[in-house]
Amino acid sequence: MELYEKYPLSISNSLSGKKEKFEPLNPPFVGMYSCGPTVYNEVHLGNLRTFTVFDVVFRYLTHVGYNVRYARNITDAGHLTNDAGEGVDRIEERARLEQLEPMEIVQKYTFSFHEVCRIFNILPPTIEPTATGHIVEQIEMVKKIIENGYAYEVNGSIYFDVNKFTEKYKYGELSGRNIEELMEGTRALDRQDEKRNPIDFAIWKAVSPNHIQRWPSPWGEGIPGWHLECSVMGTKYLGKQFDIHGGGMDLKFPHHECEIAQSVGAYGITPVRYWMHSNMLTVNGEKMSKSKGNSFLPRELFNGTHPLLTKAYSPMAVRFFMLQSHYSSTLDFSNEALSAAEKGYRKLMNALDTLNEFKYPGKGKLNENLNTELNKLVAACYQTMSDDFNTAKTLAVLFEMTSRINDFKSGNHSLDSIEETTYNAFKSTFIGFIQEVMGLQEDNVQDSDLLDGIIQMLIGIRKKAREDKNFALSDKIRDDLKAMGVQLKDGKDGTIDYEIE
Ligand code: AMP
Ligand code: ZN
Repeated sequence: MELYEKYPLSISNSLSGKKEKFEPLNPPFVGMYSCGPTVYNEVHLGNLRTFTVFDVVFRYLTHVGYNVRYARNITDAGHLTNDAGEGVDRIEERARLEQLEPMEIVQKYTFSFHEVCRIFNILPPTIEPTATGHIVEQIEMVKKIIENGYAYEVNGSIYFDVNKFTEKYKYGELSGRNIEELMEGTRALDRQDEKRNPIDFAIWKAVSPNHIQRWPSPWGEGIPGWHLECSVMGTKYLGKQFDIHGGGMDLKFPHHECEIAQSVGAYGITPVRYWMHSNMLTVNGEKMSKSKGNSFLPRELFNGTHPLLTKAYSPMAVRFFMLQSHYSSTLDFSNEALSAAEKGYRKLMNALDTLNEFKYPGKGKLNENLNTELNKLVAACYQTMSDDFNTAKTLAVLFEMTSRINDFKSGNHSLDSIEETTYNAFKSTFIGFIQEVMGLQEDNVQDSDLLDGIIQMLIGIRKKAREDKNFALSDKIRDDLKAMGVQLKDGKDGTIDYEIE
């Protein structure tokens, strides 16, 4: 029996607005798509929250036994900033600013994105398709939508005909908006004259010859519309209908709504069974975004140079911070929250080290209550994660497990009072959840080993000082370390342990 059968998964489906039992189309296979970055600048911490959320979804699905094909795209074809298919092309703008080719910009920031993912232990997807690698398929999809009567051409641009579409299908279901509201919302927007209807959106946009990135098409030179690449790449690699599509909440409308309309317009079938939207990372309650000027770059965190930071934070402390809230809640960024996360992260990693050193000593007198409790904690890890990927509650269970580990370490309980099967399940679940599911790892193994070595050396010198009755020196070592945040813990026979605050 697979773990996903033992602990059935439920997902809050943004399309129905309900928490639903997850039933993949072809188990054990799962097809999952999430919107990747537009590679025209460095990703900020807000973007990273969303990538971390879907990384954990991918990790957990894999952990419970599904065979996941995970596609996350790279948007490397510039699209225009508004829905009408007008405004600036950010990649092009950046290329002019840095005096580089658009493909050099794309290369530079794709590399930087991969580097950041590596540092945050965000796994690569199984397919990472690019928009520029799928221009042919995008043109084919536009042709199909025109053929089916849901798009029209004006001056070399192709627009999706929302009115025509609504004669047969629904539009606005995902975002819960109705056509009248949408008409109101778009009427005031800039130049709309080309379109039959203000809510129509560009699926192919004609551009002038001085636009650097452009491709030939049956309608002249142009660029694909903003929403088209995800419809094309999702269905190309995962099928006309696939299991999960994720992205940030801010992409629900228009991006994902239009994606549904395009796929239905082309193939007559709704493309996604479970839509998942992660909530925003905020700063003082406001969405973190580059344009608001309140964004943090990963490197500003690691070196503590951002004006709002009181110190530097490690990548894993930040990852832990992101996991502390459920993905559907907003998460507010602050020094206090990060400091707390840093402590929580260290506590878990210390427990992991301790657990790794344990060996089952053989069975002694069984403590039935404890044995049952540990088995319940193992099940609780799966139950909380299978309940809509609740990382916040799962971390609480892992902390409960940490207390039990520390009980064994201090001798409050002895390992031989539990069954060997319980011991093995407890150990592999704790390690598996921290490393595989949450993706937490030692920040920098070399540094922490070195630090541990130096502290152990000072502990040794202090022990010798005490034996020599040099209490001034032994106290100085203890006090100086404490001032640096290293608390020595004295046992009966000299110092046996320390804790980094
Ligand atoms: P972009 O490169 O702008 O297309 O954004 C990449 C991803 O980051 C999208 O899924 C966005 O929804 C997400 N995103 C942008 N800002 C935030 C934020 N402040 N918090 C969480 N996710 C965000
Ligand atoms: Zn997308």
